[in-house]
Amino acid sequence: MNARPSLTRPALLLVAAGVTTALGGSIAGAAATRTAARGPVAAHVAAASPELTEGPLEDRAESAVVLLVLDGVRWQDVFEGADPVLARRHDLDPRAWRSPRDLMPNLHRLVDASGVIVGAPGQGATMAASGPQFISLPGYLEIFAGKPDPACDRNDCARPPARTVLDDVAAVSGPDDVAVVASWPNIAQAVSADVTRFAVTAGRHFVARSALLRSDDATSRWLDLGRAAGPWPGRGDYRPDAFTAQVALHYLESSRPRFLFVGLGDADEHAHHDDYASYLEAVHQADAFVGALAELLGRMGARGRHTTVLITADHGRAFDFKDHGPQYPESGRVFLVAIGQDVRHPHAAGAARRHTLSDVAPTVRALLGVGGGTGEAIPEIAASPR
Ligand SMILES: [Zn+2]
Repeated sequence: MNARPSLTRPALLLVAAGVTTALGGSIAGAAATRTAARGPVAAHVAAASPELTEGPLEDRAESAVVLLVLDGVRWQDVFEGADPVLARRHDLDPRAWRSPRDLMPNLHRLVDASGVIVGAPGQGATMAASGPQFISLPGYLEIFAGKPDPACDRNDCARPPARTVLDDVAAVSGPDDVAVVASWPNIAQAVSADVTRFAVTAGRHFVARSALLRSDDATSRWLDLGRAAGPWPGRGDYRPDAFTAQVALHYLESSRPRFLFVGLGDADEHAHHDDYASYLEAVHQADAFVGALAELLGRMGARGRHTTVLITADHGRAFDFKDHGPQYPESGRVFLVAIGQDVRHPHAAGAARRHTLSDVAPTVRALLGVGGGTGEAIPEIAASPR
């Protein structure tokens, strides 16, 4: 297959949809607003501005989470920028994407405003997939179930967990408040024992609750465009990230689910093609999605202000960059970034203790005030109920 056209397509599609990636500091502004509401002048300000009258009860009702998983994206690139040795080996200018803030400007800007990083080098404890497989489906199973499934050792093991964080959110908010939008079709196998309860679009053709997803014209149009596209840089029923990103943004805007999972996978696909340049471009495009997401949340009022964005990866990569899996223990290391004004300890210098992907589900539940499941939230991000 010819890789060249795919390199420019995602950027063109983001522009075509009218989604800006040049962002203001909406989350930072929102954080300042909320701080003001809690300060000593809150009573006076609140009387003048309905925006500032939110109490703790309303906060909980409005809280929401977008969980973004960047399949196989290396923590090294996210926090240290592109590796000059890898770049040289792949005939890339070793200065390209050298700064992590050039590679992922939105992620770093939003963390600066109100966020926490878990698993960055030199900043607190590390984070890892529990493994031992360090491949995708076991990683997603651990994220959704809040515990690893050691019996799943393949990407098609078709073992949906008995209960996932989606079921926990649905038990409190109803199934319409949960949605999954993913490039990789196999993710549908991990989200729930009964995937048909939720709005799910995974790959180009798997859809559950189609009527819900298609109730918005723009979402529906992007679902159709994704179907018509080829799978590159994936294969089979894979849907390129550019389409997944647009479906996710339009569905979030029109239906406002309290829990939205977004799975982007182009970076992992390019890595398996041993194409570091295209991998880096996919990471940069994933960051453009983060920017578009923040811009959208900035237009969503109290719901947007109380939405926490969690960004993690299902696994890391081997030292050779191309691969990951049980024979490469280093590919178990991942990262997690939490962004938003409801982050418990923004600007904390990393995590106090080591975390695994099993801690993502309890963190989501704590952010949403939802019970169920086991485990503890990552304390720098949210407090588990006592
Ligand atoms: Zn992979």
